[in-house]
Amino acid sequence: MAIESINPATGKLLRSFDPLTNEAARQKIALAADAFRTYSLVPLEHRALWMRKLASILEHEIDDLSILITQEMGKPLDAARFEILKCADACRYYAEHAARILAPESIPTEDRYSYVRWDPLGVVLAVMPWNFPLWQVFRFLAPALMAGNVALLKHANNVPQCAIAIESLVRRAGFPRGTFQTLLIDIPQVETVLGDERVAAVTLTGSETAGRAVGAQAGWLIKKSVLELGGSDPFIVMPSADLDAAIETAIRARCVNSGQSCIAAKRFLVADEVYDVFESRFVAGMEAMHVGDPMKDGTDIGPLATARAVDLLEQQVQAAAKAGARILTGGERMLGTGNYFEPTVLTNVPRTSAVYREELFGPVAMLFRVQDINEAIEIANDTPFGLSASAWTRDPAEQQRFISELQCGGVFLNAMVASDPRLPFGGIKRSGYGRELSAAGMREFLNAKTVVIS
Ligand code: NDP
Repeated sequence: MAIESINPATGKLLRSFDPLTNEAARQKIALAADAFRTYSLVPLEHRALWMRKLASILEHEIDDLSILITQEMGKPLDAARFEILKCADACRYYAEHAARILAPESIPTEDRYSYVRWDPLGVVLAVMPWNFPLWQVFRFLAPALMAGNVALLKHANNVPQCAIAIESLVRRAGFPRGTFQTLLIDIPQVETVLGDERVAAVTLTGSETAGRAVGAQAGWLIKKSVLELGGSDPFIVMPSADLDAAIETAIRARCVNSGQSCIAAKRFLVADEVYDVFESRFVAGMEAMHVGDPMKDGTDIGPLATARAVDLLEQQVQAAAKAGARILTGGERMLGTGNYFEPTVLTNVPRTSAVYREELFGPVAMLFRVQDINEAIEIANDTPFGLSASAWTRDPAEQQRFISELQCGGVFLNAMVASDPRLPFGGIKRSGYGRELSAAGMREFLNAKTVVIS
């Protein structure tokens, strides 16, 4: 089947590509394996020079790249520009910090020398989603290439032009041929590529279904894998919170990337004492969101990335209503051209309903009234996911309880959850395993080789 780039705001087909044949994919794997042999020996300073050049090209070409992102997956243009600058940041972070992270670690023993050195694993396959079509790739590629690994990208099939652009950016920054290649392939071909003995490891960001398939195969093959899957992050508001800041952030945190982010706040757990004020102002804020053409200034929420995403969200909202949830605003797909869905707020979602345990990947919020911190923590943890959490309180004892008792990969107090190259990023439970970013992310695809010299 052709891989199609379709503008989600207009439904217009932008470009169409034939997937690679298995033979063409094999040739690219061979090129990657060849490239690894020489690239892994390139001095770190050279890799850092190319990585800094990559950051500069991203900044220099921000106008064209942001238009490409917006036309291909629909996020507002300002958000696309922000994404590109974040990619440049990650490149510079790893150019600057790789030497520290990769430095051998001396560990005194009774032997003359004993230490750990960090060796690259080889060819790493990256299976990536469309929601941050550059950032999701760069947060993997910057540490991977700085560490001396080489990469193959299977990007989501609705963003092939972004995938091709990334390969071109890496090449033009100076990285040798074969260091980073895009494979335009279908899902069944992922199994063939990962099954190739020249591919050492895999990282996947996406749905649970995709993670399960790739993680199972990697496990069977005994290849290292990192999975960054969905989330249904709680956003908790306690009576002592700065309510103005909490409400303003709550709306932003739900609507980031038109609601299509794994770390978007999706469940809002609000203390009884402040619930009514929170609910009315949150609903008003969601209604004030400007939904429209992502190319226009002032648009807060663009179309969802695919027609399928609108269908899925509509089904989830309808199922919630059928199960007894109340729709306070929105609840419908928007008529006309483009994959638009109304900003929506649900309350009274029964804890026995399917949607209570699902991820809502669009601008739909679920509100819950909680009696105290015990109930807040109980509901926050009552989910198959465990990516991150945002909790708002000025009470030091409550802050400590949230830090220690929330079951997830990251707790943000009085702040919106966001990824940062300096901090580890990832989840527990069915949000996946392994970490991206920081030293932890870089070390996922390294061999911690123990060396003892007696
Ligand atoms: P997918 O998980 O289907 O897509 C992510 C990537 O995985 C794509 O490259 C996709 O390829 C690939 N993929 C899908 N299935 C398989 C498989 N069986 N084996 C190997 N690779 C596979 O996400 P969707 O786009 O379908 O979105 C569905 C849901 O996933 C969302 O509603 C959301 O809940 C979650 N999601 C989470 C993201 C996150 O940031 N954590 C990002 C995107 C989605 P292809 O595009 O060719 O299908």
